[in-house]
Amino acid sequence: MIPKYFDTHSHLQFFGFDEDLAEVLGRMKEESVSTVVVGTDKESSQKACDMISVKDGIFAAVGLHPNDALKEEFSTSFYKTLAQKEGVVAIGECGIDLFRTKEWSEKELEKQKEVFMQHVELGVELGKSLMIHCRDAHTETTAILQEKKKIYGEKLFGNIHFFTGSLAEANAYVELGFTISFPGVITFTSDYDDVVRGLPLESILSETDCPFAAPVPYRGRRNEPIYVKEVVKKIAEIRGEDFEKVREVLVANAKRVFSV
Ligand SMILES: [Zn+2]
Repeated sequence: MIPKYFDTHSHLQFFGFDEDLAEVLGRMKEESVSTVVVGTDKESSQKACDMISVKDGIFAAVGLHPNDALKEEFSTSFYKTLAQKEGVVAIGECGIDLFRTKEWSEKELEKQKEVFMQHVELGVELGKSLMIHCRDAHTETTAILQEKKKIYGEKLFGNIHFFTGSLAEANAYVELGFTISFPGVITFTSDYDDVVRGLPLESILSETDCPFAAPVPYRGRRNEPIYVKEVVKKIAEIRGEDFEKVREVLVANAKRVFSV
């Protein structure tokens, strides 16, 4: 399948798709939408791998979400075995989240950092992209990536998913060779318009993070990968660029970052 759109971050293995997954996949095929199904722990990473269909443009990412870093002991060997399967294109989602754990302790932050660094090592070892989740912790995340970049250079790369930060914070990742992906959120708030406008188009990816965060005009409903079209439209609109050009570049960016 030659993708027309690339939803670089979805959770098709989550409960929201239990009833009608076949229909959702059918609509993706009809509209030539490719996706990376992202794992957040052992079980969902395994499920993401079970959904891989390279010919249909369904890929997977395996990893432990920072908010689960205290619940599950990160097993490098488990994730390494999964990651070597054909169609696994990224390690994650991994990173640091100090938003959802409002009352985070120093101990939790240290654990999140430790587990994040284990993902970094695995990504570098396997030559895979990192799928990074970061909320309210751009300083901590950037510091780790800057330090690791000095050691690993080009071997360290990836995407900052569901970006919620400033243009300066986004640029710090871009300088390290990372891409920034935007979800449906940009269709209902103008908070990130300056980031969408200020980055080089080559550093931007589109995503849904479905079943969460459906874009306008589907707000409040379950999100699904074909709605990534609304995100692409909005990126083109905010930047004042031709939709067709933006669509093509965003697909090319995803193919480059995930080597597909
Ligand atoms: Zn996610």
